[in-house]
Amino acid sequence: KFITFEGIDGAGKSTHLTFVADALRAAGRNVIVTREPGGTTLGEALRNLLLHEKMHLETEALLMFAARREHLAQVIEPALARGDWVISDRFTDASFAYQGGGRQLSLDKLRMLEQWVHPHLQPDMTLLFDVPLDVARARLDATRTLDKFEQEKADFFEKTRAEYLRRAAEFPQRFRVIDSTQSIADIQTQLTSLMGTLSG
Ligand code: C5P
Repeated sequence: KFITFEGIDGAGKSTHLTFVADALRAAGRNVIVTREPGGTTLGEALRNLLLHEKMHLETEALLMFAARREHLAQVIEPALARGDWVISDRFTDASFAYQGGGRQLSLDKLRMLEQWVHPHLQPDMTLLFDVPLDVARARLDATRTLDKFEQEKADFFEKTRAEYLRRAAEFPQRFRVIDSTQSIADIQTQLTSLMGTLSG
């Protein structure tokens, strides 16, 4: 199974990703944990450029999908073929949300790239950790220094969040929207039952 974790910066997805991976391993699954942009040596090098260099918006989108192509070829597709579970911290929905929603790159162009890079593969489940902007910002400011994307203004994150929610409504069969203002314990209870629905 292929599970992706999504949400705006500060939504708490990384904490919950560790919980889900540990729970699945405890249940005897082989689990590969990976992330985007990144996941391969080339992908991590591209991530470093993407997070720190100024570039044209379309260059950014193309590099994201280039990293993704490599990630699919080297990590995701072989793992799924072996029957392992793959958990990815972000995937293509993040390109739609950040480059499409946040930065307003044409969704049609993103759809063309998606068709090119993975025409036949979609996550089995996408967990969208959703929080209002002010909650996300407060969490980020408290924990660490902000990268290029995280310094963007509130308007950018509003549009990013809105595009995530729009996609969740468009693809309800794979998306599960988690209210990430809840306590960690409550979210974990919800995640445990969601994993149960996939294991069968
Ligand atoms: O999930 P993580 O915090 O590791 O993502 C790193 C940064 O890359 C985030 O600040 C996120 O906003 C940004 N990003 C992006 N477009 C993507 C994927 C990630 O702007 N498609």
